Amino acid sequence: MDEPALGRIALDRLTSRRFDLLVIGGGIIGAGIAEAASAHGMTVALVERGDFASATSSASSKLIHGGLRYLQMGDFRLVREAHEERRALMNVVAPHLVHRLPFVFPLYEDGPHRPWFVRTGVLLYSALARARLNGRVSEKRALRLVPQLRTEGLHSSALYADAWTNDGRLTLANIRAAAERGAAVLNYAEVVAIGGGGADVAVDGETVRVQARSIVNATGPWLDRVRRLEDPSAAPSIRLSKGVHVVADGGEGWGAAVTIPHDKVRVSFVIPWEGKLLLGTTDTLHEGSPEEAYVTDDDVQTILEEAAVAVRDVGTVRASFYGLRVLPGGPGATANARRETVFTRGTGEMLSVAGGKLTTYRRIALDALEQLGVRNVDRRPRPLPGAAGLARIDWPVELEPSTRSHLLHLYGSLAPEVLAPALDDPSLLEPIVTGRPDLRAQDRYAREYEWARTDEDVRRRRTTVWLAGEQVSDTSSWPDSAAPLQQVSDTP
Ligand SMILES: Cc1cc2nc3c(=O)[nH]c(=O)nc-3n(C[C@H](O)[C@H](O)[C@H](O)COP(=O)(O)OP(=O)(O)OC[C@H]3O[C@@H](n4cnc5c(N)ncnc54)[C@H](O)[C@@H]3O)c2cc1C
Repeated sequence: MDEPALGRIALDRLTSRRFDLLVIGGGIIGAGIAEAASAHGMTVALVERGDFASATSSASSKLIHGGLRYLQMGDFRLVREAHEERRALMNVVAPHLVHRLPFVFPLYEDGPHRPWFVRTGVLLYSALARARLNGRVSEKRALRLVPQLRTEGLHSSALYADAWTNDGRLTLANIRAAAERGAAVLNYAEVVAIGGGGADVAVDGETVRVQARSIVNATGPWLDRVRRLEDPSAAPSIRLSKGVHVVADGGEGWGAAVTIPHDKVRVSFVIPWEGKLLLGTTDTLHEGSPEEAYVTDDDVQTILEEAAVAVRDVGTVRASFYGLRVLPGGPGATANARRETVFTRGTGEMLSVAGGKLTTYRRIALDALEQLGVRNVDRRPRPLPGAAGLARIDWPVELEPSTRSHLLHLYGSLAPEVLAPALDDPSLLEPIVTGRPDLRAQDRYAREYEWARTDEDVRRRRTTVWLAGEQVSDTSSWPDSAAPLQQVSDTP
């Protein structure tokens, strides 16, 4: 693994000063906190033991949503806040990365809900969302939106709107925003000890000391492990729930996702995502360390069976992956647990941030700043790199419209920067793999400007090459912390 120039610069800077804030963990929560802290004038260091977004933050359902099920749990505040965040992300923060998506909610004769109950819920949800799209849709319209919708036993369908994103790139955009304001950000850098006004960080076989006035632990499933670095007697504070997704061929011509109810609380989704179908998810308590989780055949089978309740003829399965939800400790089924955020202070004053959603990461980051004592926190949404100037993009080279919109989605107004080297080297306009719109110019850009160090970083989190379902070429360099991507071919 070559150490890229960006990494070398960050490593020099990590050790050269005392920071206002050290953020441990480069998932969406750590990245969001680094973005917000740097925007408030703080000097920030962020270290991530794997690649940025290599754990939960590239293994979500990719939805920026209010969360219909929280409504059922009576949590109107959570739903309203999430909708506010969805609007901020779609309109200001990352309009290139967060896109509106209608959802069809089919109601079958033998389904778990009474149709009036769902329609009332959807109306309330849409009111909280301030969305116009809601209510009942005809079977004909539902089929236009979801051509493979199963219609046997279909009583009626409801329609509502949320949004989808590329979670890995949303995390990266926050990392980049922080770095552009001077933050020292480094992947493949693991905190191994905490105390004495800083932390020891293991990087490429050596240990360096990072000094900081405040430390935030944003390590998701590893939260308690890092808390114990500060205080070996810290009691467990979280539980983990495993959620598996399957990626399958399909989705052409789909204008909506499908929300499938399985019992009074649980739903699963079939989502047209990046030119494929994303199916899931499961929700099973995971006991043991995060590294011991994996996708089982049963997980994949359950997901396919649950999708088949409402969707016909799902295509070849290309991949499956898992993520671990962090739930505040306590009794009760994981599906019923609230996805709230909990802040705790350790004996040495480290602030640990547990739980929350991708959707509300900005709010969680701003709350974390308040917990750190930052006064007059500015809660107004700020555009991430690539979000401004989307209307007037000067493309340096000719591209197919579909490739153009793909690049616009991933990079926003930075897309011309990605393509610029192709003026001298047209081979950079060739696809990385056949069947995906990602270009070789993106591979180069990822390694030079986006901290990618391995093929896997490029394929899985900088581009969408992994969706081709090709064999991963560089698995030996996966960090322990990566949520493994399993390649599954032709699963029935
Ligand atoms: C299956 C599933 C589906 C979901 N779907 C959605 C959804 O559709 N919409 C939504 O809003 N939310 C969703 N969520 C929730 C959302 O994905 C998470 O809340 C979010 O990604 C958590 O981010 P994080 O930064 O806390 O954790 P992570 O992304 O796990 O980041 C923690 C990071 O800390 C690093 N780390 C650990 N130890 C160390 C150390 N010692 N030193 C340095 N770094 C360290 C890890 O490598 C890791 O990258 C979903 C979650 C799951 C599991």
